Amino acid sequence: MGKTLLVTGIGELTVNNPQAVDNPSARRDSTPEPYADAAFVVEDGRIAWYGPAFDAPAADERLDLGGKAVIPGFVDSHAHLVFAGDRAAEFAARMTGTPYAAGGIRTTVAATRAADDDQLRANVRRLVHEMARQGTTTVECKTGYGLTLEDELRSLRIAKEECDAATFLGAHVVPAEYADLRAAYVDLVRGPMLDACAEYADFVDVFCERGAYNEAETRLILDAAKARGIPVRLHANQLGHGPGVRLAVEYEAASADHCTYLSDGDIEALACSETVATLLPGVEFSTRSPYPDARALLDAGASVAIATDCNPGSCYTSSMPFCFALAVREMRMSPGEALYAATAGGARALRRGDIGHLAVGARADFTVLDAPSFLHLAYRPGVPLIHSVWKNGDRVG
Ligand SMILES: [Zn+2]
Repeated sequence: MGKTLLVTGIGELTVNNPQAVDNPSARRDSTPEPYADAAFVVEDGRIAWYGPAFDAPAADERLDLGGKAVIPGFVDSHAHLVFAGDRAAEFAARMTGTPYAAGGIRTTVAATRAADDDQLRANVRRLVHEMARQGTTTVECKTGYGLTLEDELRSLRIAKEECDAATFLGAHVVPAEYADLRAAYVDLVRGPMLDACAEYADFVDVFCERGAYNEAETRLILDAAKARGIPVRLHANQLGHGPGVRLAVEYEAASADHCTYLSDGDIEALACSETVATLLPGVEFSTRSPYPDARALLDAGASVAIATDCNPGSCYTSSMPFCFALAVREMRMSPGEALYAATAGGARALRRGDIGHLAVGARADFTVLDAPSFLHLAYRPGVPLIHSVWKNGDRVG
């Protein structure tokens, strides 16, 4: 038995019932029901007990929160943190009329290739720390700015060292030097690159989009991932209608990310699958684009996650509270739906059952708010409401 910590004086505790996480038929109603005047016990980095404060068992240490709200730590299931440089000038140009295009990624590829490992690692650490200070306890991180075997491999190793889940995205864009040799680059990704990266890859991802990879190319890469037993996820339907969501469902992807342009068939396919629709409203904000139809997905019964897509091009925010506020204000999700999507939804998108909720046995990954209720995350947008952040029972932010 390790030392126990009793966290008490919680004005509002959101647990997220794991039955709802694991029961697809419960998705539609999977909004959290917070407890008032609650407490919980942490032991060996896990939740050992929760309930009304007056029922709390004795513990070795005690932390009284004086009425603050507690939520599960945010699970940011979509981020691109291994890069160098920034694209602030491109953002400024976009805000004055230049549309976003996938090709801007090549600017970051050049800067990333020129950086050494220490520079790339420092950038990832800086952003993971920034995320932790904003309530995030789990971070997924993709490669995709290396686009050579060596640069993808070192990017993936750094992502694996510094983040909770590492995704190989060698198929982000086709690098400039392969512009006339697309088939050769796809063969490189699905062959030697994937061979080198397989042992570090929790997932394989493809940017299936006009200007990036078409359906046939995406299939070749997903087939190669499946053949190696690596689960897949897809960048799908961000810039227009296309085959991405349909392919994600067909390949039993953990998630289809973006989902900005969906047909009725796409929504139906997602609702009838285990594939999570991961919405990234910071991208629509930062590219001044229409938001995904979150209501249609939720009302159809699809499983929804919210994540930042933190990257230097289309969305350079690391803030889950900001994305939460956008989900509520711009995508018409209820605050409860948004909280669930930003925690349990993200956990599902990463196929993790031990995070995104605070039921007994869950990892003690939780965020304390400087507010009496999680509603304040949308009600008071842009206000620093994160009081403290705990991962495995240890304070990290
Ligand atoms: Zn992305």
